[in-house]
Amino acid sequence: MLRIDCPFCGLRNHHEFTYLEDGSVTMPDLSDAGEKAWYEAVFLRENPRGTHIEDWHHTQGCRMVVRVKRDTATHKILSVEPAHPDYKKTHSSKIGPRRTAAVRKSGKAGAS
Ligand SMILES: [Zn+2]
Repeated sequence: MLRIDCPFCGLRNHHEFTYLEDGSVTMPDLSDAGEKAWYEAVFLRENPRGTHIEDWHHTQGCRMVVRVKRDTATHKILSVEPAHPDYKKTHSSKIGPRRTAAVRKSGKAGAS
């Protein structure tokens, strides 16, 4: 079992997350990329043994996408950070647990 330390919610079981995609793939530019570049970006994936960057969606938590650096041979998680660059500077893993506890206590999960 993997435990992912969500930057917004804290340490959680990986069953709360949904694997999205290879986080190391950069999509081609919309304006001038050809069919081959899109085919390679969308369908061709590496299956590395060792360090791999993955995007996971915290579907049963904060619903944020987190970028996980994981060793595929040992399943050890090396780092977790928000996938969106705007959140990297403003969120730390200490913010989430307090927010989650407050939501559970008030029973307003999913309300904004
Ligand atoms: Zn989360």
